[in-house]
Amino acid sequence: MLNVLRQIVQEVNSAADLDAALQILVERVQSAMETEVCSVYVLNPEERRYVLRATKGLNPEAVGKVSLSASEGLVGLVAVREEPINLQDAASHPRYRYLSETGEERYNSFLGVPIIHHKRILGVLVVQQSARRKFDESEEAFMVTMSAQLAAVLAHAEATGQVLEVAHHTKRKIKQDVVVQGAAASPGIAIGTVVVLSPTADLYDVPDKETKDAAQEIDRFNKAIAAAREQIKQVGEALSDLRPEEKALFDVYVRMLDDDALGNEVIRRIEENRQWAQGALRDVVLEYVAHFDRMDDPYLRERATDIKDLGARVLAQLQDSADAIPDHAFPDNTILVSEELTPSMLGEVPEHKLVGLVSAKGSANSHVAILARAMGVPTLMGVVDLPVKQMDGIELVVDGYRGRLYTHPSPQMREQFRAIVEEEKLLVEGLEAIKDLPATTKDGHRLKLCVNTGLITDALRSLDRGAEGVGLYRTEVPFMMKERFPSESEQAQIYRKQLATFAPQPVTMRTLDIGGDKALTYFPIEEDNPFLGWRGIRVTLDHPEIFLLQVRAMLKASVGLNNLQIMLPMITTINEVEEAQHLIYRAYQEVIEEGIHVDMPKVGVMIEVPAAVYQARSLAKMVDFISVGSNDLTQYLLAVDRNNPRVAELYDGFHPAVLSAMKYVADSANAEQCPVSVCGEMAGNPAGALLLMAMGYDMLSMNATNLPRVKSVIRSVDMGFAQNLLEQVMEQDSPHIITSMVELALNKLGQGRILGPASN
Ligand code: PEP
Ligand code: MG
Repeated sequence: MLNVLRQIVQEVNSAADLDAALQILVERVQSAMETEVCSVYVLNPEERRYVLRATKGLNPEAVGKVSLSASEGLVGLVAVREEPINLQDAASHPRYRYLSETGEERYNSFLGVPIIHHKRILGVLVVQQSARRKFDESEEAFMVTMSAQLAAVLAHAEATGQVLEVAHHTKRKIKQDVVVQGAAASPGIAIGTVVVLSPTADLYDVPDKETKDAAQEIDRFNKAIAAAREQIKQVGEALSDLRPEEKALFDVYVRMLDDDALGNEVIRRIEENRQWAQGALRDVVLEYVAHFDRMDDPYLRERATDIKDLGARVLAQLQDSADAIPDHAFPDNTILVSEELTPSMLGEVPEHKLVGLVSAKGSANSHVAILARAMGVPTLMGVVDLPVKQMDGIELVVDGYRGRLYTHPSPQMREQFRAIVEEEKLLVEGLEAIKDLPATTKDGHRLKLCVNTGLITDALRSLDRGAEGVGLYRTEVPFMMKERFPSESEQAQIYRKQLATFAPQPVTMRTLDIGGDKALTYFPIEEDNPFLGWRGIRVTLDHPEIFLLQVRAMLKASVGLNNLQIMLPMITTINEVEEAQHLIYRAYQEVIEEGIHVDMPKVGVMIEVPAAVYQARSLAKMVDFISVGSNDLTQYLLAVDRNNPRVAELYDGFHPAVLSAMKYVADSANAEQCPVSVCGEMAGNPAGALLLMAMGYDMLSMNATNLPRVKSVIRSVDMGFAQNLLEQVMEQDSPHIITSMVELALNKLGQGRILGPASN
């Protein structure tokens, strides 16, 4: 049964559009269940009716015409109850409704299961049969499993079908102003043209791109085929001690490429569909794969894997020849869209051309989102129902305040968003006026505001925003931009720029924090559970050579400036601090022995793990400062993966448990007179900043975009107001109530606009 299920889901997944997917579904389920009828009813949300969208067994003429409301018929009952209904004599049920158009009267047995995605009912899947019998438990279980698998496919296809209507095989008719929801990851509005980037040589991620020069694409394709053939031959020859049957596999591969069928088909599609070579290759290979996947013979089914592998090889060759999109190919207002945005992709678009970012995977707490905020680029993450592959070249509005995007915006829509951009510009200009003023409350409490940096460009931007130093320099960012570990002198050069930009103000450099979702291509860490694995300080203490080299580079960069502070990420135990301090001291001695004179920097730790919260007082005794990484702390306290859009709603810095932990750390550090700050995103949230100040944090470090906003709020309150608000908040047990309370407080201060434009 599992095999049948897998096959159906695969076929449905690779269907050209929603109608084709549903038709495949009903036909396969009808045959697998050996019943007479299988139908799917899909909810039309505007009319709140369940419309017959596909059937095998009922009158096909009824498709699209017959519909039921939630209060009508057994289909409506399944939808309302949100559970299966299994009847052997449906006609005698009080909710039975006879629909003459469908020719339904002959069917007595009825099994209907709801299709539910993220708590939302999308439709009902039904099987029917003339013979009076109850479908048995295993049949019911099959239908429930089928519907759970299909819910995601249906939700995706539904959203995709809304954004793009495939009117003809190649011609896309695009609806205006279709809204797709994601997570707001970096505020602001972007209006621009989509460029789709795909992460790796993965056939499933290849976007559609129209080509103007089919001949050139065919030429690229022929060259890629030749290169792939040569590569396979070489690999086959190099593996001389291969067994004959394995060797034969290489011969089969080469023959498949020599065989004109596959190649000719790709060329035909390039010519007829005006598709670029990668897109035509994807279509042909995936059709072959689906064909082999359907075979009952396990040997033939295995050939699907061979074809996929072959396709990936040719694709890799094609990507090598086309990967580097020349700068002039990016439109002036580029909105980068990808299945999964990575930090290195941000560097591919010239900065002055990049206006917005959209990623189907990831969430607002992913590192790429943090970088986007630092760059001030409006960004949406976790837009799971986005037809990424078909979006290249379309016009888009990205609303980074509310986490929405609008495809092919109408003139009215553009106007509405241009007005918000204007309003935002005025706000920023207003904030300019307080650039050089301190973040002091009305009654004289002084808070220090610093920035988080990773690139030299965001360091420069921070200066015009009135930052008083760097509270977190993410050193992994320059590491991610390279193809190997940067040498000591390369690192020293990069660090020097940061230190010199801010001197004499302090720059807090965090030692390399990789692992989790921060990967170096040249140092891959493959783990089942990376956020609970080899991360941050755990990696660098296991590789003292990397740690020592980095610390030496930091120290040398600081010569004559002496504004360096060193910070250790992901500390879980006291021993890690002792070990790291020992290594830092050793590096310091080595530098001094080289005859270089530099001051010993202050060394602090990050509190990002719940264990460290409860040891905050012991840690405070050992170090020069403490900084809370509220992003990871929230993730670990709430057991919510910060990158997973499915649970993004649960990730909330205003959760009472998070706020209690933050307060506990502030109290512990203050009891030891150890300076204490926050460098997670909570510090850059104007409402969060108010609460943190009231808790007793001395310094907040945030992205440059938010710094003037936080300063404006701090300057508009009395410390008493903030403390009062904190007191009330700490009595609450719901994150939603806390969010409303702090928003209300900002509105009362006349600072509501700081949180973003009023909802429309
Ligand atoms: C944090 O976890 O809050 C933090 C500042 O570190 P990063 O976001 O780089 O993991
Ligand atoms: Mg962290």
